[in-house]
Amino acid sequence: ACAVHCRYCFRRQYPYSEEPRRLEDWEPAMAEIESSPEIHEVILSGGDPLVLNDHRLAQLCQRISRIPHITRLRIHTRLPIVLPSRITTELCSLLTSLPLQVLVVVHANHAAEIRNDCLAALQQLVRAGLPVLNQAVLLRNINDTADAQEQLSLSLVNAGVMPYYLHQLDRVAGTQHFEVPQSVGQQIISALQARLPGYAVPRYVQEIPGATGKTPVLHERT
Ligand code: SF4
Repeated sequence: ACAVHCRYCFRRQYPYSEEPRRLEDWEPAMAEIESSPEIHEVILSGGDPLVLNDHRLAQLCQRISRIPHITRLRIHTRLPIVLPSRITTELCSLLTSLPLQVLVVVHANHAAEIRNDCLAALQQLVRAGLPVLNQAVLLRNINDTADAQEQLSLSLVNAGVMPYYLHQLDRVAGTQHFEVPQSVGQQIISALQARLPGYAVPRYVQEIPGATGKTPVLHERT
């Protein structure tokens, strides 16, 4: 499950209630990973893995860490942004004590989110020694200007968080009013490249059904 239902989420209709609930239920997935030595990284993603309590999260992470060829674990979570109190000393200790390189990928869309408790939560993760990256979604009338994206990148970098991805909106029913033309997104990225150091410019990407990973937005959609 997720702590929030983002209006533009492509998983809005996802049947979370059918997901495995006990550690034993994850064993088929663990067995698949164990039999695939070419896999070196596991991603725990949306829903949000941090909706698990520390005990269950530790059980899952420790189970993953016992797979010899897994060296990295990525936690994709929006909770540091929408429920920053979830980031605790205990959680940081849990993540940093794993015998894996753990990366945390958060999801903030606007500089206005990187304040107060949220800023403190991000800094707590960073100070614990966890690499923290951000992915944002390009949203009309929310963050679809170079100024808005520049402020977002600067707020993140100043908190120790690397801007990672800027996502083109997935075409989900009921979200058309958020869509930004790719030509506008490309102009924003060009402006960011002129204004910011390279590490502060996110990669502009889109999800294409059937593709094995994110696809860079290089050409305007026709
Ligand atoms: S936090 Fe991520 S997975 Fe959860 S509703 Fe928002 S976009 Fe979807």
